[in-house]
Amino acid sequence: MLIGGGWKASSDGATFNSINPFDAQPWAQVPAATTADIDEAVGAARRAFDKGPWAQSTPLQRATLLRSFGDLIRDNADELARIQVLENGKLIREVHGQTLALANHCYFFAGVAESPTGETLASSVPNMQVFTVREPIGVVAAITPWNSPLALLMWKLCPALAAGNTVVIKPSEITPVSTLVLARIAQQAGFPDGVINVVTGAGPAGAALAAHPGVDKIAFTGSTAVGKKIAVTAAERLARVSLELGGKSPNIVFPDADLPNAINGVISGIFAATGQTCMAGSRVLVHADIYDQFTKDLVERTAQIKLGNPLDPATEMGTVACQSQFDKVLHYIEVAKEDGATLATGGSRPSDPELSRGLFVQPTVFTHVTNEMRIAQEEVFGPVAVVIKFTDEDDAVRIANDTSFGLAAGVWTRDVARALRMVKRLRAGSVWVNNYRKTNHVAPFGGFKESGLGRENGFHAIEEYTEVKTVWIDT
Ligand code: NAD
Repeated sequence: MLIGGGWKASSDGATFNSINPFDAQPWAQVPAATTADIDEAVGAARRAFDKGPWAQSTPLQRATLLRSFGDLIRDNADELARIQVLENGKLIREVHGQTLALANHCYFFAGVAESPTGETLASSVPNMQVFTVREPIGVVAAITPWNSPLALLMWKLCPALAAGNTVVIKPSEITPVSTLVLARIAQQAGFPDGVINVVTGAGPAGAALAAHPGVDKIAFTGSTAVGKKIAVTAAERLARVSLELGGKSPNIVFPDADLPNAINGVISGIFAATGQTCMAGSRVLVHADIYDQFTKDLVERTAQIKLGNPLDPATEMGTVACQSQFDKVLHYIEVAKEDGATLATGGSRPSDPELSRGLFVQPTVFTHVTNEMRIAQEEVFGPVAVVIKFTDEDDAVRIANDTSFGLAAGVWTRDVARALRMVKRLRAGSVWVNNYRKTNHVAPFGGFKESGLGRENGFHAIEEYTEVKTVWIDT
């Protein structure tokens, strides 16, 4: 673990394994942080925040460090991508581009570090100057999931560092190695000791970090269930908190859509990253007029998706990331059957003996689903699409919004007016029209309702990592 600039084992020597989901073999051994280690990491982050080079750093210095970090991420993209594949079974061809794009976050937030953030305000009395400044919050705990371990970390790290905070990272226990290697690269970029710290361990380590009184802000991405616990923990001491949580996003296809394009978007919307994305378009809403043909085409295309070694560029879908996730996906497939959904394709482990050791689940489509079914309401976080029929715009909006989540939505139509009406009525943090799952470093991302609190990326993100100070000067 990286604590105060030094690389350390756990204080009690405990370790755990990182398991490759493609062959079920452990491939790396990682320290399991104790509460003493977490305390030490928070202490190191506090010291770096209070005094030393970072506390005195100018926006230009922080911007320069972020730019070097971005350059080094590009130089090391092959290694960073490969490690993520070994950890979570995502496709190398998906992860490599995503890893290269992380540099853009560094470059963008380097610019943000030097952008003006305060305001000069009107005074209501003579001889008074009023202005605001934005200051870093302090020690940030970044607690991250396994599905896109580095992207979801960089969405926190870049704005936190641009603003001058220090950070203690607790990556998912499924994907700790990529974060440790990224931290080594950050060290090479020249961030001073204690600015970036990493402690590794499972949920209890995350809980101990979130509860630590020395943490001023918790930035969390993960499940809604854990996000709610973190919100309660933060409330105890009114620590600042931002939460990026789960989803059950609707991908809505109207009859006037470019249907070949829509089917591609629906397939990548749910099956990219083996369905393990918060923004997965897991509820496919299809208009009654095209329901039969669209569903038939979707099922045929889904059945052709090529499973295989995620490091092979020809593979179209990899494994799920871990045993518990594998069990959860198969459980939800049974739940859907029990609730009366029709299994149209997939639904089990593939029979191919070459895939027998890996945590593979066939890409699965359920038809004749109604929105009340658990398979339409609960996040599976796996390669399972449910297809729901709707009759008109009102019906589509009613079904789409009838969920506790509000992360994202897709709309497929050639009618601009309809698209704009739908955008307005959908209760979701991102709406994609005639595309799906686009994100970048500039566009804010986050959830309505139980999908989260706050926004990552873009200029808004800096607000999540700063306090506003108002200054009154009697001149
Ligand atoms: P998770 O909630 O199980 O774990 C996330 C992180 O929290 C891990 O580091 C874990 O060790 C830690 N953790 C677990 N229990 C904790 C506790 N009590 N206190 C503090 N930390 C704790 O989520 P996961 O299974 O790793 O990730 C999948 C979930 O993440 C899905 O629900 C998905 O939708 C969500 N997600 C959301 C976004 C988004 O941007 N909205 C992005 C990716 C994933």
